[in-house]
Amino acid sequence: MKMNKIYLTPGPSELYFTVGDHLRTAMKLQIPSISHRSSLFTDIYSLAENELRGMLDLPSNWHVLFTSSATEIWERLIQNCVEKKTFHAVNGEFSSRFSSFSEKLGKETIKYQVAPGEGIFVDQFPDLEGVEMIALTHNETSTGVIMREDEIAKVRALYPNSLIVVDAVSSMPYPQFDYSKIDSVYFSVQKGMGMPAGLGVWLVNERCIEKSEQLLAKGHSIGTYHALPEMIEKALKKQTSETPNVLGIYLLANVLKDMNVRGIETIRQETNYKAAVLNHCLEQHPVLSHFVKNPDIRSKTVIVADTNDRSAEYIQKLEAFGYVLGAGYSHFKNKHIRIANFPAHSKEQIELLVDKLMEIS
Ligand SMILES: *Cc1c(COP(=O)(O)O)cnc(C)c1O
Repeated sequence: MKMNKIYLTPGPSELYFTVGDHLRTAMKLQIPSISHRSSLFTDIYSLAENELRGMLDLPSNWHVLFTSSATEIWERLIQNCVEKKTFHAVNGEFSSRFSSFSEKLGKETIKYQVAPGEGIFVDQFPDLEGVEMIALTHNETSTGVIMREDEIAKVRALYPNSLIVVDAVSSMPYPQFDYSKIDSVYFSVQKGMGMPAGLGVWLVNERCIEKSEQLLAKGHSIGTYHALPEMIEKALKKQTSETPNVLGIYLLANVLKDMNVRGIETIRQETNYKAAVLNHCLEQHPVLSHFVKNPDIRSKTVIVADTNDRSAEYIQKLEAFGYVLGAGYSHFKNKHIRIANFPAHSKEQIELLVDKLMEIS
């Protein structure tokens, strides 16, 4: 008999427990066949947007846009928000990849890079004179390090003229940002949202839009169908430029609605509880230990354990119980395991996982 697996991989990951029901309903309603110019679609867009606004307490001068992925948003941010010079705080593979996109698109790219497992602190930034965009990563999925929300909120006062953009791909919906002190946040849905991949969510305020309009007025290319002014024009009508992932937006709207019924505060508290259970395990464990030594910058949503070069063994042994863990990222493949702690993962699943982990010494 095929055993049902529990995906604790940090994306794609376990589906939120209501996704199956919503998929069946979507098929009944023939959602994949509807026109993206129909009122049915604009209703779905509006629902997704309103549920997200409510959940995140998003100010009214922010817009909710849809793309194919977070990777796409990296490229769009550079095209729309940077004429010459950009800054990237790099503490792992994802933040590094974003900075490489800036280089490939020909921008002067300042990189502030710290060693894996170390944190990003604003008082250590280099000279950012003339930097148009400051790229920060709330949760670096490759190392399990966060840049705390209160640290992110300090950046604006020091660099009031730069756009501050935040990658929250593997932490949403957990973080509580001060949206008056940042300009863009983005995520894709196959991580904390517990959905199938293939949809990016791009939140921008009017400062980003103004910047893209300035670049356009100066004669720069800011892209084509996903240039910000065109995206905003369509978003105001609850539409998209292209034929979007309608099924994905439908699922997102409904998953957000379910999460809001449960309550974002409850979800955050459960995330804290499960992180504490996992942290306690790593502190008691004879072999496993925290890769991120400083508890202040340790992720609650992607827990990274040092395995003493025994990752393959832990992954294989846990797989026999149906638990799919993430290997270490890139050159940490056999040095780390990564355990996602998303809203789709129940307290019971994490408690049982910890029991199994403790048995392997
Ligand atoms: C997964 C991830 C991305 C890329 O998301 P895609 O959906 O693959 O485009 C970007 N940033 C972080 C921090 C991630 O974890």
